[in-house]
Amino acid sequence: MKSITSKEILNAYKVLDGGELDPDEALALIQTKPPYLMDLYSLADKTRLKFFKSKIDTCEITNAKSGACSEDCSFCAQSSHHSTSASVFSLKSKEELLKAAKIAKGHGAESFCIVVSGRGYPNANDEFNSIIESIRLIRKETGLELHCSPGILSKETAKMLKDAGAAMINHNLETAPSNFKHICTTHKILDRINTVKAAKAAGLKVCCGGIIGLGETLMQRVEFAFALKELDVDAIPVNIHQKIAGTKLPESTITLTEIINFVAILRLVNPTKGIKIAAGRNTVLADYQGLVFHAGANGMLIGGYLTIPGRDIDKDRKLINSLR
Ligand code: SF4
Repeated sequence: MKSITSKEILNAYKVLDGGELDPDEALALIQTKPPYLMDLYSLADKTRLKFFKSKIDTCEITNAKSGACSEDCSFCAQSSHHSTSASVFSLKSKEELLKAAKIAKGHGAESFCIVVSGRGYPNANDEFNSIIESIRLIRKETGLELHCSPGILSKETAKMLKDAGAAMINHNLETAPSNFKHICTTHKILDRINTVKAAKAAGLKVCCGGIIGLGETLMQRVEFAFALKELDVDAIPVNIHQKIAGTKLPESTITLTEIINFVAILRLVNPTKGIKIAAGRNTVLADYQGLVFHAGANGMLIGGYLTIPGRDIDKDRKLINSLR
């Protein structure tokens, strides 16, 4: 393992002037250890402040359809290949989704994301058409920016979402392309990449990130950061794996330093992209969650995280205010 020095961190300051890191440089930096951690985080923080000022974006998701998914993602409580205590219910009505959107607006969320379990919608069907109707209704009634996490899309279904008023889709790569086959066998990373491309071609913004702690190597974390750069996604959600009883993937051994170093490298490789911290923020980062925002993150998911509860919104508000 390479030992990083402050000289290498100083070299990475080129990012502030429009320079780019290469994968070898990022691989060296992701291995930063004390006493240089704060040097790395300081650069990531300066980069965040340069492109996003001190604003922390928030978004809230709603679980619109849960469980019974045909896919076998090894971390996921909603896969029908696992026996978990996650709720199973079919797609909520547009009235139920509107009610959830109004609550999110009351929490101060700027956007609202409808998340649907399942492989996705390469073709429009009744369920997909119901999502389209919900998006139209919520846009009209709340004015919230509408996001949707629908699974795999084709060019046609992506365009239907755009035409209905969706601004962004969430579709995660989940992990480095070279690690994907170890976490899912029922679809391929190419299905995910093609969905991102279809959404972009339809004029949708794309929120695309994944989960760290899925057994990936440091090199694969760097590969993941560069794969997201290549896809030119707009926002990158970062979840931290937490074992859910009944799922296949073992408990993650990722350390706090590894998590924060990854966020810092993600910021330096993708300086102008939104980085949102999602599941694992309250539990794995616990008392250190403020640090992740001074290491490059500029957004957070508030409320709950599908199969994992979130924390009190007032506590998150206090955290956001204290970061200014
Ligand atoms: S991550 Fe998505 S596609 Fe994979 S099992 Fe869970 S709900 Fe299904």
